[in-house]
Amino acid sequence: STSATANIGVIGLAVMGSNLARNLARHGHTVAVFNRTHARTLAHLEAHRAEGAFVGAETVEEFVDSLIRPRRVIIMVQAGPGTDAVIDQLAPLLEEGDIIVDGGNAHFEDTRRREARLREIGLQFVGTGISGGEVGALEGPSIMPGGSAESYAALGPILESIAAQVDGEPCCAHLGPDGAGHFVKMVHNGIEYADMQFIAEAYDVLSAAGLTAAEAAEVFREWNTGELDSFLIEITAEVLDQVDATTGRPLVELIVDAAEQKGTGRWTVQTALELGVPVSTIAESVFARSASGDRTVREASRGVLTGPDRTLPAVDRQQLVDDVRDALWSSKVVAYAQGLEQIRKASDEYHWGVDIATVARLWRGGCIIRARLLKQISEEYAVGRLATLLVAPSIQAGLAERQGAWRRVVAAAATAGVPVPGFSSALAYYDTVRAERLPAALVQGLRDNFGAHTYGRIDREGAFHTLWSADR
Ligand code: NAP
Repeated sequence: STSATANIGVIGLAVMGSNLARNLARHGHTVAVFNRTHARTLAHLEAHRAEGAFVGAETVEEFVDSLIRPRRVIIMVQAGPGTDAVIDQLAPLLEEGDIIVDGGNAHFEDTRRREARLREIGLQFVGTGISGGEVGALEGPSIMPGGSAESYAALGPILESIAAQVDGEPCCAHLGPDGAGHFVKMVHNGIEYADMQFIAEAYDVLSAAGLTAAEAAEVFREWNTGELDSFLIEITAEVLDQVDATTGRPLVELIVDAAEQKGTGRWTVQTALELGVPVSTIAESVFARSASGDRTVREASRGVLTGPDRTLPAVDRQQLVDDVRDALWSSKVVAYAQGLEQIRKASDEYHWGVDIATVARLWRGGCIIRARLLKQISEEYAVGRLATLLVAPSIQAGLAERQGAWRRVVAAAATAGVPVPGFSSALAYYDTVRAERLPAALVQGLRDNFGAHTYGRIDREGAFHTLWSADR
């Protein structure tokens, strides 16, 4: 339409959509805004009109008419049926070459389905991961777009203008076709689960050593000035420092110890099972949340199952703090290695051509797992294809240096009865992949014994079966 003035539009003006629209407007874009419940659109315009150019629409038709072609529409609504409902309303009004961006937390299989369907009718569909929560959406998120290269040409510059910037580069780049962006965002969230579990275990070990929440906060603040420098470590200090106004106690001690989840961690693990990628640290982290929330089992076990009383072996306090820091760094590296391997496998499986160095680069800023370590990881992958992050020269050296501490922490925690499923699973993975021989040989023997599944031999080609017992 000739009255079209907006170069981008946002549908869904709950916290994420509203903040994204503001971010776009602040960067000079003219933003069409629409929300199913019109009151939300009015509230958005009322509160943020002064920040830039918004074009409020009361109907989807009005919204579509206000967009310059090719129309670019970002959907930020509840993932699942909400997204489908909006697409169904929108698609018939759009024209060939128009671009629909889904910025919600969609499952990548849904994105693949939607992309294929919309491609058939000539529309571009770009499943895009957006991380950074509501603050990120407003001030610069990490943006992980999938979809066609053609759509990125029309969309990339706008998304790059509102993304977090690190070392002068936007945390936004085309990752690959159809579901690639949402897949990468899903694994980002899986790694986020692992990062948080490791942090929680570090705090638990420090507590067992007698540190108060305020003292632990100080330790995390100190860590945040070094190699562990990251958003999650920074806010850990903030959470541990918080004092409850009514009781005067550290707030963390008053929070119910049952961790909840919205599902992206579970998707990461489900997908990894199907791809056959061992993301054991992420799985442990998802399960640790489920276990924390299992009241029935915990109540039946508390005071019944015996064990040590969390007294750690006597050790110099600074030594312990340093050891826990090293266990945290090492475990974190394993989680990144596993998650990035999952992206690589999926990229091979779906022919996405995702560049892992780019993934790590996008995660350096804006998103929840942003961390100094990601610069190093990105640089290592930029050198060339790695079989695993763990063998990248600087990472391998870092692990070699820290593994003594890592083992001491896992051993001390096990001895004291402090559960560290994340740390110990990460260490077990490290020892698994570096092993000369694994007891998988025995597993193969057992499988052949009861099921005649056959096994391979180290000294001969072929598949072998043995008559294991004369009696059967
Ligand atoms: P939300 O609570 O997930 O969703 C509310 C929005 O969805 C409202 O605008 C609502 O419209 C709209 N909606 C729901 N069902 C609809 C339907 N059938 N038709 C049309 N509109 C519908 O909002 P949010 O927290 O801002 O998140 C938006 C998306 O971003 C989600 O996919 C979420 O997973 C993702 N995300 C969120 C975060 C975060 O930190 N919150 C971070 C990254 C990604 P009404 O006002 O009419 O109800």
